[in-house]
Amino acid sequence: MNILRRKSTKLLLASVLLAGLSTVSFAKEKVYTWKLATTWGPTLSPFIDAPQNMAKMVEEMSNGRLIIKIDAANKHKSAFGVFDMVKGGQYDMAHTASYYWKGKDANLLPLTTMPFGMTAPEQYAWFYQGGGMELMQKAYAPHKMLSFPGGNTGNQMGGWFKKEIKALDDLKGLKMRIPGFAGEVMAKLGLAVTNIAPGELYTSLERGALDALEWVGPGMDIKMGFHKIAPFYYTGWHEPSTELQYLVNEKKFSKLPKDLQEILLTAMRVSAYDMYIQNYAMSADAWSKIATEYPNIKIKTFPKEVMDAIKKANAEVVAGYTKANPLLKEIVDSQNAFQKKARQWTIMSDYLYLKDNLE
Ligand code: CA
Repeated sequence: MNILRRKSTKLLLASVLLAGLSTVSFAKEKVYTWKLATTWGPTLSPFIDAPQNMAKMVEEMSNGRLIIKIDAANKHKSAFGVFDMVKGGQYDMAHTASYYWKGKDANLLPLTTMPFGMTAPEQYAWFYQGGGMELMQKAYAPHKMLSFPGGNTGNQMGGWFKKEIKALDDLKGLKMRIPGFAGEVMAKLGLAVTNIAPGELYTSLERGALDALEWVGPGMDIKMGFHKIAPFYYTGWHEPSTELQYLVNEKKFSKLPKDLQEILLTAMRVSAYDMYIQNYAMSADAWSKIATEYPNIKIKTFPKEVMDAIKKANAEVVAGYTKANPLLKEIVDSQNAFQKKARQWTIMSDYLYLKDNLE
């Protein structure tokens, strides 16, 4: 009896101590619940996978102290409203692309990709080692937002056209969806250019609101079904390294404890690289089947006359923007200088390796 009592007293004491400890640690463990809005729909893989993977990593690494709930475009109904919603604080963060904000702030345009610009490895080196990240924060600072790489598509295809482009004149009057600087370049060549939310692309092409569009690459494009309506598939020039972006409300970020900030930063970076890998694998897989499973797709490159006109128009468009926007000029100058340096190594390593090993 005595033994039992002594034992139960010890157990009781242990329980009290444990209860005390858990109360102390529980009191410290404030749970932060954030909301993230995407420009993409809930099934648009691999774009939507990046924020989903990021949120899962954050929850596990923080032991449930930071929960990020994701609203896709079908929920918040404003694919291109996510910038304002994070700026205004309705959402804590977003997953989107900077080159959609032409009408809001031109300085943000070069932070996704530049026509004839860097490849994905070159651009990642610029972001993380070449001053790109600092310039991105400088560009987003007036909007009280932070921005981080959110996943790269690698080199994109030049788009789907209903008719073959044999000469410059064939482009005139075509209605095309193409965002960023590239859209302005195409407008200079006489196209009617629009940007349409990802969820409405197929219908717009089908109903004749568009004659052509560019989206991403075979991994994502073929699933959208564009080839059924516009079978001429052109090689790319306009988006050699499209980096999506996480936008984070600066004030909300500053209120997170330091360890949760680090967890968030790490998860964003890992999820971005995961998306690059995932998209590369998806495109490689789709491309390996394109000739056998989709024989109606006609792979084309633009004629030299068209490419020469595109290069000339691109130089004029970028010069116009850099002249009018000092910070945009600073960003583009930094990109060009880094590209000039990095490209020497890209040629020496990847390009010559590929050239010498092609059958
Ligand atoms: Ca694109």
